[in-house]
Amino acid sequence: MEKPLYSIRMHGSLVGGHLSGAERLAPAEDLEALAASLVRRALGHQRGRADRIRLTLEAVPAAAVRTGCLPELTTVRVADYRQGRDLARRLLIQGGVSAVAAETAMAWIVRGAAPDGRSMRGAMLVDAVSGERLEPDQARGVRVSRMDLAPAAEKVLRQRLAERGLDNDHVREALVLAAKVLSGPGVLAELCWSDDPRYTAGYVALPELGYRRFAHLKPAGDERGGRAFFVRRDGLDVNDLIQYLETAVLLITEVGRVNGEIDMEA
Ligand code: AMP
Repeated sequence: MEKPLYSIRMHGSLVGGHLSGAERLAPAEDLEALAASLVRRALGHQRGRADRIRLTLEAVPAAAVRTGCLPELTTVRVADYRQGRDLARRLLIQGGVSAVAAETAMAWIVRGAAPDGRSMRGAMLVDAVSGERLEPDQARGVRVSRMDLAPAAEKVLRQRLAERGLDNDHVREALVLAAKVLSGPGVLAELCWSDDPRYTAGYVALPELGYRRFAHLKPAGDERGGRAFFVRRDGLDVNDLIQYLETAVLLITEVGRVNGEIDMEA
């Protein structure tokens, strides 16, 4: 029988603002070491030392654990963030998102999608046809949670990413998050770029084409980033989708390919 799992989640803040967050799924005997590494992460963030750290540990009923697979990763060659955004927009349209919805979501991320003009804590939920925002709280957004790699899958993924020079927390965690988002009912695509001013990369994730990574989706130094989950609205129960993304437990047991760079313009 598989060991029972716990969800362990860290949230670090600094002067009231979000600073750092991370989470894992793990058996009881790994929790002490994981707690220590998550605290270390909150205290050692590049943007400062968290002055408030919240750790939540919760047992997960074995019957609630679903398993899933990671999307294939492909890096798209781009000269700069302008070209990155242009190609990301084209990919979204190819995936069934309307031009207006793709444009609108990008414009929100660029200007800071929270009501105070800063980055949201979670993601926007965007009607893939009209571009209308559907998340009930535009500052918090939808927070995808309770997902992780099973140890064997993590080992394989790290090897495959390392061969491409991509084995870092950003990429691993974003791939796992994208896997959960793409498995959500009614989700057509995801767009993301980081709010970390030093991390300019981002991605578009689509069920058919997988996770398409761009080294540049924003200029260096920009503190604004965000995520948009594009949804097909017909027949969609928004609350069910949010409930799934925030609380369903997903353990990744299968890893997709990690491809070399492609040139979308060729
Ligand atoms: P990051 O890649 O961690 O820099 O996050 C980029 C943006 O994605 C953040 O500014 C948030 O808007 C959003 N985000 C971060 N974590 C999550 C999450 N767990 N679920 C949904 N959106 C998130």
